[in-house]
Amino acid sequence: MNPAIPPFCNYLYEKTSIGGMRPVQIVRQDKDCPAAHRFLRQNAEGCHGGARFLRQNAEGCHGETRILRQNAEGRHALRGAAAAGRAVFAPNLRDGLAATAKNAYYCGNENEMRRGIVLFVVAVLGAAARPAEPAAAAAAARPLDERLSEATLRLDYIFSGTDKTCEIAVDELSRLEGWAGRRTHMAEVPLRGNGQVCMTAAASGDTLYRMSFSTLFQEWQATEEATTTRKAFENVFLVPMPSVEARITVRLFDFHGNVSSEMKHVVKPGDILIRPVGSETTPHEWIWKGGKDLDSNLDAEHRIDLAIVAEGYTEEEMDLFMADAREAMSSLWAHEPFGSLKEKFNIVCVKSPSMETNVSVPRRKLWKDTAVGSHFDTFYSDRYLTTLNLFRLHDILAGIPYEHIIILANTNTYGGGGIYNSYTLTTAHHPGFRPVVVHEFGHSFAGLADEYYYDDQYEEQYYPDTEPWEQNITTMKDFSSKWEDMVGMKFSNQESAIEWRGKKADPGTVTVGTYEGGGYQSKGVWRGSLDCRMNTNSYPAFCPVCQRAIGRMIEFYTVEID
Ligand SMILES: [Zn+2]
Repeated sequence: MNPAIPPFCNYLYEKTSIGGMRPVQIVRQDKDCPAAHRFLRQNAEGCHGGARFLRQNAEGCHGETRILRQNAEGRHALRGAAAAGRAVFAPNLRDGLAATAKNAYYCGNENEMRRGIVLFVVAVLGAAARPAEPAAAAAAARPLDERLSEATLRLDYIFSGTDKTCEIAVDELSRLEGWAGRRTHMAEVPLRGNGQVCMTAAASGDTLYRMSFSTLFQEWQATEEATTTRKAFENVFLVPMPSVEARITVRLFDFHGNVSSEMKHVVKPGDILIRPVGSETTPHEWIWKGGKDLDSNLDAEHRIDLAIVAEGYTEEEMDLFMADAREAMSSLWAHEPFGSLKEKFNIVCVKSPSMETNVSVPRRKLWKDTAVGSHFDTFYSDRYLTTLNLFRLHDILAGIPYEHIIILANTNTYGGGGIYNSYTLTTAHHPGFRPVVVHEFGHSFAGLADEYYYDDQYEEQYYPDTEPWEQNITTMKDFSSKWEDMVGMKFSNQESAIEWRGKKADPGTVTVGTYEGGGYQSKGVWRGSLDCRMNTNSYPAFCPVCQRAIGRMIEFYTVEID
């Protein structure tokens, strides 16, 4: 569902100074195009605030949008899509294009995808997809290495710098009781990410724990502002509390996967300045414990702990938040392989109250006092809704078991963002809520790349000499590490095509292949299917390549090595 930008509107265009096309006037607006004015909004200085480039395909239809970042002077500041595994949203105009191009291809609903692909996912996951063990047979938590304790070390860092420099500094260390993270694959990372934290035992050098991540800081480094300004960003990572002296190494990578910045420090478990936190918790409520009784903790420690956090909801609006959180969960389960593997998750809703309702929209001069201080217009991009207050976010979560975070914003303004192993933040009351929250969680949980692209991309993020770490795009540098083994495989969407944009879609099959365009680039990057949840909001499912990647990630967190 894409309510914001319907498909077929005509505009007059003018060339912009950087080669894109800018709509300057609507020349035809049909009844399906009530929102066309969105493209023509101008700010006080006469610049197009949050305007987007459009491109036209051969049929004269608008096939693409692109974020145009504007700097404070109103100059177009768009530089290539940023470094981190983020995605703002699946652009709407592509959905319009898809209405003409895709019907002959595939449109299936979630149930059809289950029938068509669940067997494949089960095959891939093996034991991971088995039904949960009976409660009586639930095993005790897998013990951690003896050099780790059943507690969490929270690492607060400041990443600062410019487009070319980065400094990593420790802000504070704190200790939380209990360890909600994984108990398997401790010394491995499932994806390279744009950065990693590695903890080793000081005495032996053995790796005790590793994790990978992406950051908003690295995205910001690709903006115009970063060429003239030095800024600092908060980052928080959770690792198991070492019971021996440990060394922590934090690394950031550039577009080629090379280490661009590194910082090391030592953690002594007896350090009196490690602050104990989490004794007082924010009110919270579980809505899912692997499908088992919510009062039971049986087997809970073997599941992936997902926290859904309230943002922009006042005390009086917590019933609304809970309803929204259940909607997010329902949408997640409606997407494979989450639906088939939902017994692998715990979901806790964190009722963090805001002083004011709604969230901040700077371009409208609306600033709200909210739980995590999120706002739209991140990096001057209308729809990019983020919070920079990572310390505050993790303070809210202290004492509650969590590994992954979805923040729901109490607003109907369209937007969101998802940063690998950091958080998903999305609008809860826009009609696109259900697909967008899952799309963004595809980024923050599974590290998936955006599969959409722009014809006018002029600054690359993915280079031919480097295979991206994201599992759903390739530069062909090392395709065998991606879905080469799936090419040519067909996944049936079965008999009943869904109603979509008022049309009956043709039944068909999803054929995995190499489709050029993805990761914001129209050339030099390939995706595995024509369409996907990581491509458009209207498409109803993850493509088979993304499904396998998500399944593998769930397996990484939950399946015993032995
Ligand atoms: Zn995909």
